[in-house]
Amino acid sequence: MRWSWRNLLLPQSCYLCGAESVRALCPGCLADLPYYSLENTCICCARPLNREFEEMYCAYCQQSPPFFSQTLPIFSYAYPINHLIIAAKFEQNLTILTLLAELMAQHIDYQQIPDALIPVPLHSKRLRERGYNQSLEMAKIVARQLDIPLATSACERIRYTTPQAQLTGSQRKTNLQDAFRSNHLKKSWQHIVLIDDVMTTGTTVNELASVLLQAGIPRVDVWCCARTLEY
Ligand SMILES: [Zn+2]
Ligand SMILES: [Zn+2]
Repeated sequence: MRWSWRNLLLPQSCYLCGAESVRALCPGCLADLPYYSLENTCICCARPLNREFEEMYCAYCQQSPPFFSQTLPIFSYAYPINHLIIAAKFEQNLTILTLLAELMAQHIDYQQIPDALIPVPLHSKRLRERGYNQSLEMAKIVARQLDIPLATSACERIRYTTPQAQLTGSQRKTNLQDAFRSNHLKKSWQHIVLIDDVMTTGTTVNELASVLLQAGIPRVDVWCCARTLEY
């Protein structure tokens, strides 16, 4: 991973409002972050439920049940989380990335400790372009803070694909076919959690979960830093 030295210095001011701060965000901005509410959401994908005709599972999951069992988003992908994730992802801002991952570890409300965390992998070509995989860097911090094993080479991206954000919903579904491969999975693993930075339609994590289920993992969940509110 290549970080510029300026990102390793302690922040002197809040990234958002400029107030003096020892952390990347001041206490006021930290308190205002848009945490994701799981109230009245689908127990599988965490989309808000339409109470008139949906119970427990949203219409999307009723129509085509995902391969993962549960989604725990920490934040809504709204201001200022969208700005912070862009800073962590494309501007190599280590202090912001670390803060987001620490908040993830603090606020994740899980009932069952998984056997391992697997970050959504980047293709080696994309990794070279970007310099690092933000989901992996987040997963390292979450794994360390929660004392859960991190499996960095258990899933590999074997096809270079167009970024999902540049595609329509139907294109997203076919774009990732056969994009992933699993390696070195432990026979004892019963429950895996995928770590993603931003979840939108869930196509990427679903494709990955399907590979893991086919390889014999009984349960796959998703923990994401942020979940979009429109699909
Ligand atoms: Zn602030
Ligand atoms: Zn759902």
